[in-house]
Amino acid sequence: MQLKIKDIFTKELPADPVLENSRRQVKKACFSYVTPKKTRKPVMLHTSSEMLSNLGLSEEDAKSKDFINVFTGNSILPNTTPYAMCYGGHQFGNWAGQLGDGRAINLAEVEHHNKHWTIQLKGAGETPYSRTADGLAVLRSSVREYLCSEAMHHLGVPTTRALSLALSGDEVLRDMLYDGNAAYEKGAIVCRVAPSFLRFGNYQIFAARQDEETLKIVVDYTIKHHFAHLGKPSKETYLKFFEEVLNSTLEMLIHWQRVGFVHGVMNTDNMSILGQTIDYGPYGWLEGYDHNWTPNTTDGQFKRYRYGAQLDIGLWNLYQLANALYPIIGEAEGLERILKSYNEEAQVQYLVMMRSKLGLFSDEKNDAELIYSLEEMLQLTETDMTIFFRNLSYFSIEDASKGLSIIKDAFYMPKEISDPVEQKWSLWFERYAGRLRKEEISSKERKEKMNQVNPKYVLRNYMAQLAIDDANKGDYKLIDELFQLLRKPYDEQPENEKWFAKRPDWARHKVGCSMLSCSS
Ligand code: AMP
Ligand code: MG
Repeated sequence: MQLKIKDIFTKELPADPVLENSRRQVKKACFSYVTPKKTRKPVMLHTSSEMLSNLGLSEEDAKSKDFINVFTGNSILPNTTPYAMCYGGHQFGNWAGQLGDGRAINLAEVEHHNKHWTIQLKGAGETPYSRTADGLAVLRSSVREYLCSEAMHHLGVPTTRALSLALSGDEVLRDMLYDGNAAYEKGAIVCRVAPSFLRFGNYQIFAARQDEETLKIVVDYTIKHHFAHLGKPSKETYLKFFEEVLNSTLEMLIHWQRVGFVHGVMNTDNMSILGQTIDYGPYGWLEGYDHNWTPNTTDGQFKRYRYGAQLDIGLWNLYQLANALYPIIGEAEGLERILKSYNEEAQVQYLVMMRSKLGLFSDEKNDAELIYSLEEMLQLTETDMTIFFRNLSYFSIEDASKGLSIIKDAFYMPKEISDPVEQKWSLWFERYAGRLRKEEISSKERKEKMNQVNPKYVLRNYMAQLAIDDANKGDYKLIDELFQLLRKPYDEQPENEKWFAKRPDWARHKVGCSMLSCSS
């Protein structure tokens, strides 16, 4: 196995001088050196072919002993020095101080085909940032992260990637529902890959500690390697950097809204500086379209991170990043100007995105209202988001009265659709037909375009749970089946039609399917 190692993070940023792996506050340093924990009986369960080739590895490599050992932390790549990053963050709106890679260990950075990647193990043992936890991960959350990050990539959503999913062979104690019933579960390790795993919290920690020197070092480093086109560090460059982070964050969030993805824990330590979806914990997919839905039971009371709030939370988090950058910029005006652009830009982009879901590509005065009324309709009765938008492409202008029958498969309780609700839908479809008449493209073309933004297959919460239940029994076939299915989420795939279906009744209130805690 040959990887072209090109470490820059550890070479250019200040390291924690303490080498002992003990929990502590780490000051004036961006990372601590740490060695992954040896595991009892590592077994590789799955690898992503695309990520293998992105890193310059072959399928043969993936079957080697070396590969299993490296990507479960049991051996270290030659000439590398694994490390855990120091960062802080706002958790559920409150400053939480130092957090850091508590169970993520960066193995090395790799270059292949002029692309730069950081490879990181999640669940490979404790680090100085593990606080009161064990640095490990269980199989269920690892399957969810592995499948979802690759699925998101294929949906066209910016995201960290996954190379491999392995069992550690060790048992991990978890209180899954935080109700005092702890139990042993299978331990697992995912190898994640991204150009960088820097988060908003990597900057916040130094601002919070009034360590402007290290703050400037890490910002300059980020610009030099990940925003090189912005040029040499200066006040203007810092502002442009912030503007780009704001834009890429917003772009990512619009994609989340488009596909119905709810992150669940949008803390600032879970916001990538590259605008990539990061840290798949208690995330979920909208089944019934519902602005108030969050999969995260830990956030059940206030629903801070519900689907309908994600764009607003993005802005809140960007304010925290702006505060963190302020000390090296020295004035608030520029940052405020950029922050002020967010809401308007978000509205514009949201409108364009929602139009595309409806097959509308021109700009008409009442579009926002048409979309708003659709969102209300979708929440009148439980209506499956994915099925609704996918089936909507069959709508015919000539047959507006058939609208309801085209989308009725999306209703969870079709028998309970009352006459007034039916009438509202009919009226909406009439308006929609009128609006479509103003478009210039053919209905065939419209259908094709709609099918490129409205996925047919997403990783529904119960699908991941089925794969987890099987995996816990030692059967990994469904992991591969879903992995392959979700590589082509916009394709019809008639042989996989069974996955184009509403959440089954048994999954409505089942743990893992509609409810997830942060325990992982
Ligand atoms: P999260 O909200 O899952 O992104 O995690 C918040 C913080 O807790 C991060 O600093 C994580 O590294 C840390 N953390 C989460 N789970 C564990 C664990 N099992 N062991 C050590 N640290 C953890
Ligand atoms: Mg996190």
